[in-house]
Amino acid sequence: LVPLFLFVMTNALPLDLDRVLALLHTPEASVDLRYLSEVDSTNRVAAELPHRSWQHGTAILTDYQSAGRGRRGRVWVAPPCTAVLASTLLRPPSNVEPASFTMLAALAVSDAVSAATGCTSSIKWPNDVHIRGRKVAGILVELAGEGTYRRVILGTGINVNMESRDLPRSNQQASSLSLEAHREVEREAVASSLLDAIHLWYGVLTRAPDALFEGWKARLNMLGATLDIYEESTVWSGVALDVQRDGGLVVQPTSGSPLTLYAADLSVRPRFDVQAAESEVQ
Ligand code: ATP
Repeated sequence: LVPLFLFVMTNALPLDLDRVLALLHTPEASVDLRYLSEVDSTNRVAAELPHRSWQHGTAILTDYQSAGRGRRGRVWVAPPCTAVLASTLLRPPSNVEPASFTMLAALAVSDAVSAATGCTSSIKWPNDVHIRGRKVAGILVELAGEGTYRRVILGTGINVNMESRDLPRSNQQASSLSLEAHREVEREAVASSLLDAIHLWYGVLTRAPDALFEGWKARLNMLGATLDIYEESTVWSGVALDVQRDGGLVVQPTSGSPLTLYAADLSVRPRFDVQAAESEVQ
């Protein structure tokens, strides 16, 4: 049975930054929050902030991106005031695999959407966040600058109060927190949970990087599943065997030896019922 629900969206108001600040628990998360009502891309703004005009924890939040980006030049779609769209700047600790930041962002978004909805969430390799097999958030991690000027930009887009008609047609599996929770969700609460979780997982990354990797691996929803792998103009299939600390996905093709895949080059689609796996993910 499909649950019937009715709720009136009252939350199509601009993000209340004071409320986000009031809800934060982590001091590092409240150092420098900036709100722009509309922008082309929060990751673009974060990448172009001059050195010394940002600090570890600076976050750019907006109600609307006119040119929101996904991975590999894809478009990220969200009508005004329906999503949490944020780019958080971090100083990378030394000797950390770049893939760790993707893991950190995915865990933080997963925590935030679970806290807001009470629903179990899982991670589709490498970093989409799903509830019941539906994509409710996307992540675009970028690194900019060199040496001491290096910055990590965690771009996060969480579909909060989007109705079915607001979801992108390009992804039939997209959903939102309100659709999954059957009620309106407070965007400020999602934003503050996200920022708190980013700093919590950053602490794990600096103190116990193995725990970050294991946490990410435990939340992946596709290990053991048969995948379709879309690489340039070809599609092939294989079974997801494992993941590596550098973010690689180890896949057993139909014939031959296992291969390690990297997300920069391709997209994967699980063929199995993701919900079944999610019931096992905590
Ligand atoms: P996917 O596996 O969904 O293709 P991806 O990781 O390869 O994900 P992303 O960079 O996360 O790609 O996001 C871009 C893709 O996400 C777009 O091609 C589009 O299909 C989909 N998309 C765009 N906006 C949204 C949204 N608000 N919610 C869910 N999916 C979206």
